[in-house]
Amino acid sequence: MTRYDLHCHSTRSDGLLSPADVVRRAAGRGVDVIALTDHDEVAGLDEAREASRETGVMFVAGSELSVTWRDTTVHIVALGIDPRDARLAAGLESVRQGRDARARRIGASLAEAGIDDTFEGALTYVTSERLISRTHFARHLIDKGHARDMKDAFKRFLTAGKPGHVPHAWATLSQAIDWIHGAGGQAVIAHPGRYKLTHAGLREMVREFRDIGGHGIEVVSPSHTRAQYDEFAALARVCGLKASCGSDFHGPGESRFDFGELPPLPSGVEPIWTGW
Ligand code: AMP
Ligand code: MN
Ligand code: MN
Ligand code: MN
Repeated sequence: MTRYDLHCHSTRSDGLLSPADVVRRAAGRGVDVIALTDHDEVAGLDEAREASRETGVMFVAGSELSVTWRDTTVHIVALGIDPRDARLAAGLESVRQGRDARARRIGASLAEAGIDDTFEGALTYVTSERLISRTHFARHLIDKGHARDMKDAFKRFLTAGKPGHVPHAWATLSQAIDWIHGAGGQAVIAHPGRYKLTHAGLREMVREFRDIGGHGIEVVSPSHTRAQYDEFAALARVCGLKASCGSDFHGPGESRFDFGELPPLPSGVEPIWTGW
């Protein structure tokens, strides 16, 4: 059976491995089809595609777009995009630019809570001058002993209601889908189990996404329990959306699933790769 992994990160956003090393690791661990999906970024795709030629793994050009839907941050995975599409590139650049001011606000907010210099600290973990994320703050907070691990750092400091969480307006859902369509790609709702939405709210978001041309939802993800695989498979089916899967790999030791460890999609769903 072909093994697909359609969500992961490199040093072009908040991952720990270069785009080429991501592809080599995936290939070495038995992945047959890999999509690199850096946050709000396409700059690693050429390098990753090049590496895929050496390894024989099939490469899919992707990105993970940050979106604000009714005050909730939602991530949309783009698959099969043209990395050179100008409108997508401009859209992603505008989203990335918003990250700098947000990161300064996160630093100021943590300082108010008594933890100084975290913006400067986070910067020492940044691996692409184009992108800073909460993950970089988390790595710094762990290194300074404020948190045990990633999960702990997010829970204590970086999620809603915690000192390092600041409101931020990302792209709109329709902008993101528009950019992805314009670049010839498919749009997939990333880790739907992770959003702090009510059951009804999630359904509304998924329907709106479908109605404006979204293609699929992630069913198998490290953010989901086994029970949620079935729950989101059912949601995909009733909403007429395809199902996707991805490890959301960020680096060895930092992710729940390494490459090659993803369970298969539940039966009864149409995979996002149907027709590729
Ligand atoms: P940002 O796009 O800057 O808001 O950062 C989002 C990134 O933070 C995600 O892509 C994950 O890499 C990481 N993240 C968010 N929540 C958690 C969590 N609970 N545990 C570990 N990493 C997380
Ligand atoms: Mn990330
Ligand atoms: Mn995400
Ligand atoms: Mn991700």
